[in-house]
Amino acid sequence: MDAEHANAPRGPVAVPLGATVTSAAASQLGAVRATGGRVTGEPRRETPRDPGGVRATGAPREGGLLDRFGRVATDLRVSVIDKCNLRCTYCMPADGMPWLPQSQLMSADEIRRIVRVAVRSLGAEELRLTGGEPLVRKDLEHIIAGIRADNPDLPISMTTNAVGLDLRAQALKDAGLTRLNVSLDTLHPETFAELTRRPHLDKVLAGLRAARAAGLGPIKINAVLLRGINDTEVVPLVDWAVSNGFEMRFIEDMPLDGDRSWSATNVIPARDIRAAIEEAFTLSPDPRGRGAAPAERWEVRRTGETALAGHVGIISSVTEPFCAACSRTRVTADGRIRSCLFSHEETDLLTALRDGADDEGLAQIWRDAMWAKPRAHGSDRVGLARADFVQPERTMSAIGG
Ligand code: SAM
Ligand code: SF4
Repeated sequence: MDAEHANAPRGPVAVPLGATVTSAAASQLGAVRATGGRVTGEPRRETPRDPGGVRATGAPREGGLLDRFGRVATDLRVSVIDKCNLRCTYCMPADGMPWLPQSQLMSADEIRRIVRVAVRSLGAEELRLTGGEPLVRKDLEHIIAGIRADNPDLPISMTTNAVGLDLRAQALKDAGLTRLNVSLDTLHPETFAELTRRPHLDKVLAGLRAARAAGLGPIKINAVLLRGINDTEVVPLVDWAVSNGFEMRFIEDMPLDGDRSWSATNVIPARDIRAAIEEAFTLSPDPRGRGAAPAERWEVRRTGETALAGHVGIISSVTEPFCAACSRTRVTADGRIRSCLFSHEETDLLTALRDGADDEGLAQIWRDAMWAKPRAHGSDRVGLARADFVQPERTMSAIGG
């Protein structure tokens, strides 16, 4: 028995071997979620186990993060903080969000432990740190150095708005950060100020210069296109990015905003983004393929030229979903596992860790959570523009995009 369950009242629950837990069976488990994770503040109970190689839930008892649809999650995204220093209109309300209290945030050591479990016990192959804005955490270098010490070969990337990166890029690189995604939706200072509600374009550009000088790479630029705001900047952004050696990535606007004002009609669809790029460039499918990556990748050449100018990726979660190939597992800044960006369920890993669970106990909670991963977009039906789609309670910045 793992430490997590050492003091738990015992009691078998009759769920057939290999079956997915039904709502009736779940209610027999009392305060324990069907996934095996415990909701904070509820009493600890035994999670049912069967003698074979699977849990009563149907989840495997060993190996990696397999789900009911045969996907295996090897791509770990960890949010290190929910706070941010910008207020992008598609992400956060102007007044920010109710931030997590410090006591609920994972400490550097807790993040390190969770990543170690994911890599050593569950086969995670790459890590992305995100937020909120990771640079808001003063101990970010310490967090990365700890993870790097445990995992010398792990690719560690970070998604950031790059505000303040100019002062920290070298230290982050020295700590063990490898790759970088920088969010930048526009090259115009006024549009930047309108879109992020902060006048910091210069700081982002300074951060990018410092990142390149520090040898961080590859560097990808993420842009969300908004109708009537920056949708005329497709070609200038691609031109600027490839001229500077960055890969440009366009992300369709998703219903994860704090203002809850997302509308399908405002989304610039991937096919329109491709058409806009082709006004000045020729696109051909990237021979490296897509794998489980969220972005469909393209090689870009200036029209009439044969030389490769660079690469572009398009993340089309709304109009061309890629859920069937999803390999992601997410942990929020307060240590909750989210099997899908759009999930309505979370599994509390941090409380189990703080209560003394051993590595195998944590790994099993994680396997159970991922086993229950929905097929697509937080449900077993695909489509963000569906009439019955319900936006999850947490927004992008609170989940960790
Ligand atoms: N603050 C960092 C940043 O902006 O890069 C990291 C966190 S941010 C939530 C991660 C990514 O999510 C960014 O590239 C951002 O553009 C994207 N994002 C935020 N809200 C979004 C939305 N509603 N739809 C699509 N992408 C969104
Ligand atoms: Fe902050 Fe990133 Fe959200 Fe913009 S997208 S408000 S930078 S978390």
